[in-house]
Amino acid sequence: MIDNALVVLNSLSGKKEAFEPINPGHVGMYVCGPTVYSNVHLGNCRTFISFDLIYRYLKHLGYKVRYVRNITDAGHLENDEDTGEDRIAKKARIEKIEPMEVVQFYTVDFHQTLEKFNTLPPGIEPTATGHIIEQIELIKEILEAGYAYQVNGSVYFDVLKYNETHHYGKLSGRKIEDLIHNTRSLEGQSDKKNPQDFALWKKAEPQHIMRWPSPWSDGFPGWHLECTAMSTKYLGASFDIHGGGMDLKFPHHECEIAQSQAIHQQPPVKYWLHANMLTLNGKKMAKSTGNNILPMDIFTGNNDKFKKPYSPQVVRFFMLQAHYTSILDISEAALDAAEKGYHKMVKAVDQLSTIEPGEKEGDFDTDQWLKKCYAAMDDDFNSPSLIAQLFDAVNFINTILHKDHPIHKTQWETLHKMMNVFIHDVLGIAPEKKSNDATESKLNKTIELLIELRNKARVSKDFETSDQIRDQLMEYGIQLKDGKEGTQFTLH
Ligand SMILES: [Zn+2]
Repeated sequence: MIDNALVVLNSLSGKKEAFEPINPGHVGMYVCGPTVYSNVHLGNCRTFISFDLIYRYLKHLGYKVRYVRNITDAGHLENDEDTGEDRIAKKARIEKIEPMEVVQFYTVDFHQTLEKFNTLPPGIEPTATGHIIEQIELIKEILEAGYAYQVNGSVYFDVLKYNETHHYGKLSGRKIEDLIHNTRSLEGQSDKKNPQDFALWKKAEPQHIMRWPSPWSDGFPGWHLECTAMSTKYLGASFDIHGGGMDLKFPHHECEIAQSQAIHQQPPVKYWLHANMLTLNGKKMAKSTGNNILPMDIFTGNNDKFKKPYSPQVVRFFMLQAHYTSILDISEAALDAAEKGYHKMVKAVDQLSTIEPGEKEGDFDTDQWLKKCYAAMDDDFNSPSLIAQLFDAVNFINTILHKDHPIHKTQWETLHKMMNVFIHDVLGIAPEKKSNDATESKLNKTIELLIELRNKARVSKDFETSDQIRDQLMEYGIQLKDGKEGTQFTLH
């Protein structure tokens, strides 16, 4: 048994609850992954970084964690009302490529981006298209249980029938009367008996290219079904943690509960955890309004929102300075402050290694400090509170360095070990690669020389040469950016 005082905020009860996994020592965790039809956006990254923190801390406590995070590569339509095109099929149509090319391209982008943020990969990363058979079997079971109906080759979940014996809406705090009242009825456009019902299987229109045979029609599964199929397959009918972004509470997670409960007659998830959203400069991020930024564009500095690039570790550190259940706003000022704090922390830990401890006790209670660090993380993975403790230690380290204060050998050992454990293992901040300063300075001078030659070429209107320099450097991962203060460069 792992002895811990961990409490988690369960979205289902709205309360903090003691964390007691179904099988002692083991944790089953499912997190809704991305729909791979565009570059992963920063808000999604925050969700995955939040669950990476949770995964890391559970592992640190000694749990054996089975972490499943899916890839949605079919069935996610444009609208929650089961209307519109499949997002991946639409992208494939516009780009004139195969849907699986879209999937491959954006899955790679997703992995590369999360790797930059130093997130650990899940143990299992199943795809919706890889589990069509499981989804069809699940629909058969739901039909048999009497909670679904078939119309014109499509199968829908009967929400009203389900709600007679269960509470549909209990996770998101919705009442069925309000749902009936507020759901748009799509006159003549839908085969649904009631507008709040949701699709388990959709018959494909002749032009729909992503289709599979089933007992009902050639078609494709509804989006909510894949998570029930894959979580049940890998974690069982009831498991410990289900995570995702706050925006997935309704309808996605509500539908998952209904599907699973309908056939297993037990709640699928013990603890529902939801990560809150990220805003940009005080406003909701949205492609349509232009208030949007891609993670890679922050790292390269190639964007119109911030004046300079920020490293993935700084952005990760910035995100962890807020609790995962709070709304977080990203702005230049906030990133600058995070960058300063990050460097101060990393520098102090680096310098701690060089300090010679003695026999005299320093003015810092390391045992108490360690307890406070664990208390922070045990309180629903409170990373900002842990970071505050780390900075208490940073201040102590700085008094040793700059004011000649003493530190005892045992104090040093605890601090040295645990600062590294909390920063690297728990918060997941990657140790920075130490670059060779001399080589770096030579490289910088070489690039500056090329920038100068390019400028000369441009002045003499030799655009062939100037473009060649820019494009060739870009190919090597060196991006030039012309601005008021001359040409800057960033390394990718
Ligand atoms: Zn899901």
